[in-house]
Amino acid sequence: MSNTVEFHSTDTNTPYKGKSRCFGEYRCPQCSRRWMSSNSWAGYGQECQSCKINVFPHKQTPLQKPKELDVGDNKKPHPQHLCQKCKALGYYCRQTL
Ligand SMILES: [Zn+2]
Ligand SMILES: [Zn+2]
Repeated sequence: MSNTVEFHSTDTNTPYKGKSRCFGEYRCPQCSRRWMSSNSWAGYGQECQSCKINVFPHKQTPLQKPKELDVGDNKKPHPQHLCQKCKALGYYCRQTL
């Protein structure tokens, strides 16, 4: 993937700066658990299920084909209680698109 945005800092910010959601890769600094989400947003992290701490994505990739990703992604529920964007909005963050 040539358009992947790498982020090498542990700042409380995200590599992606756009307004729409993107694909994010997360790794918890406490338990090293890794997960990925196609509901990743600029400036928002997701909570680690075990540690309950907010984790910002270390890598984010703009969605090239959102509709195709949605097909696969809809099969598993989006963990709204872990998503900082959902909490900030007060509703399912996918509804903003
Ligand atoms: Zn953790
Ligand atoms: Zn969300």
